[in-house]
Amino acid sequence: MTTAANDQLQKRLKLLQDRFVERAQGDVEILGNFARQIEQQQVSRADLVECYQLLHRMAGSAGTFGLPELGAAARTIENQLKPIVETTARREKSQAVGVALSVDVATAIHKLAVLVQKGTDQSKAQLVDAKPHQPIDAYEGAHGMQVQVMALAHDAGYLSGLMADLQGYGFAGDLVSLSDPHAAVADLKQRVGATILLCQDSDLRDVLSFREAHLEKNDHRRFPVVGIGRQNTFESLYQVAEQGATAYFSEPLDMPALAERIESLALERGARPQGRVLIVDDDKELGERYCLVLSNAGMKTKLVSDPTKMMSALSAFEPDIVLMDVQLRAHSGVTLARMIRYEPRWLGLPIVYLSSEDNPETQLDALAKGADEFLVKPVTDEYLIRSVRIRCYRARQLSDLMNRDSLTGLLKHSLIKQEVERELARCRRAGHLSCVVMLDLDHFKRVNDTWGHGQGDIVIRTLAHLLRNRLRESDTIGRYGGEEFLVVLSDCSAEQAAELIDDIRIRFSELVFTSGDDSFHVTMSAGVAAINDYPLASEAIEAADQALYERKQAGRNGVTVYKRQDGYQDD
Ligand code: GH3
Ligand code: MG
Ligand code: MG
Repeated sequence: MTTAANDQLQKRLKLLQDRFVERAQGDVEILGNFARQIEQQQVSRADLVECYQLLHRMAGSAGTFGLPELGAAARTIENQLKPIVETTARREKSQAVGVALSVDVATAIHKLAVLVQKGTDQSKAQLVDAKPHQPIDAYEGAHGMQVQVMALAHDAGYLSGLMADLQGYGFAGDLVSLSDPHAAVADLKQRVGATILLCQDSDLRDVLSFREAHLEKNDHRRFPVVGIGRQNTFESLYQVAEQGATAYFSEPLDMPALAERIESLALERGARPQGRVLIVDDDKELGERYCLVLSNAGMKTKLVSDPTKMMSALSAFEPDIVLMDVQLRAHSGVTLARMIRYEPRWLGLPIVYLSSEDNPETQLDALAKGADEFLVKPVTDEYLIRSVRIRCYRARQLSDLMNRDSLTGLLKHSLIKQEVERELARCRRAGHLSCVVMLDLDHFKRVNDTWGHGQGDIVIRTLAHLLRNRLRESDTIGRYGGEEFLVVLSDCSAEQAAELIDDIRIRFSELVFTSGDDSFHVTMSAGVAAINDYPLASEAIEAADQALYERKQAGRNGVTVYKRQDGYQDD
């Protein structure tokens, strides 16, 4: 993070902290009034509930704002009041009846004011709890990222052929000598993308100690190491795993499988946006602080402090997970979670309670009513980031499982069609040009018949990889049918689209597929249509399909742009 960005973050955290302290001062004043009523045995049930809610909020947030003693003291009083609040709720319907409380409670409440002052003085002396967080690398260019492979070797001979093959799959790759580790480190440091280290098993030990010695301490990115070699007995593989290789491929190499593993390792390293988090908390300062901390760690966040706006926020923001406060002022987080589940669309949405409830029994009750997990307030920034990130990651894996084709990992038929519709709407709003492309493998039946269905599958997967590696993140790719793909190229004219797809077509035709001792090539054809030219997404898809058909007629292995003959005019 740049110093300026860090200063900015610290400033905003400080501002929130000031707001919190100001609020806490107001709260202890109100609580002081309650304490006096308690001393005079004049506290009504309604007052007691309000007093209890204030204490609850303070117990949940003070720790996060650097006043842990205040939080703990508020928690103790809250716990003392809780059984009384609950029994009076059952016994008394009338709000006016006085509740008898020990004067010790009043004394404890008066002490809170002292703790606010003390905590404020102390926290002024130190910086706010949040460590500036290293932002996650932003990968540009390719579809989500440009995955880089750095091959490390004492003797480059063997790996150079392999690196050329990997480049054919769309990875950026370099061969670096292990004998000059300092140059290798310097090389790694200037890279911005996800980088995977690759080596032969004979160099594995050296590569792992190179990583250990030079990288992990200074660099927040962890570089997975993929080993290549001839080992395949249990003992030798166990040794490779013990040394710490992240993945291992033995010869003869299954290139598509290797490419797939490299790509998924890069994805796991968090190249994509880190997830979307909706926070429902009526405590504005606390909620804003969570937002700030999480977005600083690379996540997209939205705060809802008025629960009546929650459902519309869900639709508009489409979060990966919801962080739900358990006790909001007039609402219960447990009930809100149940409401969310009324919409079939949100049945699978992970809901995590952010609660100052540390009683495991009450937690279990809440879990039974619709949430998935608990984070107990106060949570440290570090813990919040780590637990939310891992939950977002899991949530995305799950939704990928439902929405993506298992062979290629691309969007399924119905979803990619929806994407065309969305893009059409975006084009209309933003006024940019976009294209839809239909791609189809040439004579694929012949490929299956000659080389077997398994080889056919490898070809399909390989084209999927190539598309993912060559297209931008803003583009979407789907498997439209068996050996047909549909691609939405956002903010891209038909000419640019044709050029880009033709480049991919050429690269694809150059890939060598092997089957035993034999090898073969496969080609593809594509049809391009400008989305903007059509009133309906389905018509744009039809036009791309028509262009593909024309291409197949005119000779395969090429790209054709649809020319309209229907006289349809934009107005
Ligand atoms: P053209 O150049 O005209 O597109 O000829 P083609 O042979 O590619 O087209 P056709 O539509 O006749 O055949 C498509 C073949 O793709 C038939 C089908 O068995 C095969 N196919 C569809 N899905 C899969 C799959 O998931 N795996 C494999 N291996 N083959 C598939
Ligand atoms: Mg075909
Ligand atoms: Mg076909």
